[in-house]
Amino acid sequence: MLKASQYNFLIETADNQLLLYNSRTSAFAAVPMEFSGDIQYLLANPSRGTGKDEEIIGNLKAGGFLIKPDIDELGEIRKVYDDYKNGGKKIILTMLASEACNFNCPYCFTYDKRGLSMAPWVYNAALEYLQKSVNMESQIKINWFGGEPTLAHDNIISFSNRLNQLASERKLKKPLYTMVTNGYLMTVDKFESYIGAGINIFQITLDGPEAFHNKTRSLPDGRETFRTIWNNLVAIKSVKAKFEMSIRVNFLTDMRQEIYALTDEFASVFGADERFGIYFRPVYNFETKRQNICTMKDSICSMAEGLQMQLEYDLHAMDVLSKYRKKSTMPNPIPRAIPAWCETEKKSSWIVGADGLLFKCDTYIGQKEQAAGKINMAGEIERFQSAYKWDTDIYSAEIEKCIKCKLLPLCQGGCPRLRMDGKKSCHLNEPYLKEILLKAHAAHMNPQLNVQNN
Ligand code: SF4
Ligand code: SF4
Repeated sequence: MLKASQYNFLIETADNQLLLYNSRTSAFAAVPMEFSGDIQYLLANPSRGTGKDEEIIGNLKAGGFLIKPDIDELGEIRKVYDDYKNGGKKIILTMLASEACNFNCPYCFTYDKRGLSMAPWVYNAALEYLQKSVNMESQIKINWFGGEPTLAHDNIISFSNRLNQLASERKLKKPLYTMVTNGYLMTVDKFESYIGAGINIFQITLDGPEAFHNKTRSLPDGRETFRTIWNNLVAIKSVKAKFEMSIRVNFLTDMRQEIYALTDEFASVFGADERFGIYFRPVYNFETKRQNICTMKDSICSMAEGLQMQLEYDLHAMDVLSKYRKKSTMPNPIPRAIPAWCETEKKSSWIVGADGLLFKCDTYIGQKEQAAGKINMAGEIERFQSAYKWDTDIYSAEIEKCIKCKLLPLCQGGCPRLRMDGKKSCHLNEPYLKEILLKAHAAHMNPQLNVQNN
C-alpha cells in the first residue's frame, strides 16, 4: 500500500513534459507528457498499479512522490526542525569582533550604533563557554561578523588559534569558521593568515555594479571602495588553498544591464576558479536620512519583483559560468527543504556582542534593549526574559496557515523576526515556485525520470 505525498507539485511545460517536484524531499524530475496520464492516475490510485507500472512506481517512491501510508509527513518536517532547534551537538557563536566599521553605509543596521571592538575578556569568556559546552560529538561553528570583522584581524587570529588548540587537546572535531566582510582590508597577507587559522568560508557583499556600489558603500570620507575590493579578490585568486568565497550582489530594479555586465566580468575573471561564487539579492529597504540614498528608494524591488529578478540573475550567472564550470558545481536556484530559516532558531546559537551582550537576530545587534542574554567572565550564559520569545515557533504556536502550507519544508515558517513583528514571513509562494521550476527545466537543470514502460 502506498499514498501520494501531500507535498507534490505537478507542472506541464510548453515542451510537452510533466515536471514533478516534491518540496519535502526536494526531488525534481521531468517525464514526457505521454506518461502524464499514467503518473497522475498512479498518484491518485497508488494501489491500482499493475506489473507494467512497477518501474514508474519505483521512481515515484524513490522521489518521495509516493510514500508508505503510515508516514506522517508533517511530523517528519517538524522533527527536522525540532532536531535543528534543540540539537546541542552544533554550537554556533557569531562573534562581533568589531561592531565598528571602516565603511559608512547609510542603511546599515549596525552603523552609528555602538562602534565597539570586542573586549579581550569577551574572547576569553567565549572560549570558557565553549570549553564547558563541548564534548567529542560537538561541532563548533564560529561566524566572524561585525561591523567589519577585519578591523579586529589580530584578535580573530589569536582567538581562532586558541580555539583550534583547545579542539586538538580535547580531540574535538575541527571548528568551522566563516567570515562576512566588506573585503576592503582583505589583502592577500591577511587572507592567508585567516586561512592559516582555519577560516576558509567568506562572504563579501557588493552593492550592485561599481557606480552604484561606490555611492552606498563608501569610506567615511566619501572615497570609493569597489576597485579595491575587486583587486583584493583578484589577488586572492593566486592563493593556493581550499576556500569558498561568495560574492553577494545586492540589486535595485533599474540596474539590469549593469548586473549582467558585472556577472560577465565575474565569469571572465573568476569563472575557471570554482572557489569563487556569485549570487544576487534584492535590496528591500533603506533606513537612512541621507538624501542621495533616499532618492533611490523608488528603485527598491517589491518582494515579487525581487524574487523574479533574483532568479533571472542566478540563471544568467549559471549560463555564463557554464562555459567554465560543470553545472553540478554551481549553486542551484531550485528551492530545497531546510531544517530552519536561519541560525536564530537554534537554541545553541548566539550572536556575541563586543561587550558580552548576546543577541539572537543580526538585525538587532547594536540595540541594547533587544539583547537576549549576556555572557559573564566565567563563560556562563544568562538568558534574559526576552530570549524566550525566540523559542516560539510555528509548530508550538500552531500557526495554521504554515502548518497547512505545501511550501512548509522549504521555509519552516520563514523569518522568525517578521513572524514576531506580526508581518508576513512568506518568502516563496506557489506561482513563484512553479516559475522557478519551469525556468530551471528550460535551463536543463532537472533529470529525466526513467519511466519506460515494459
Ligand atoms: S531578520 Fe529574520 S532571517 Fe534574518 S537573522 Fe533575523 S530572524 Fe533570521
Ligand atoms: S511562511 Fe508562508 S510559505 Fe512558509 S510555510 Fe508559512 S505560509 Fe507557507
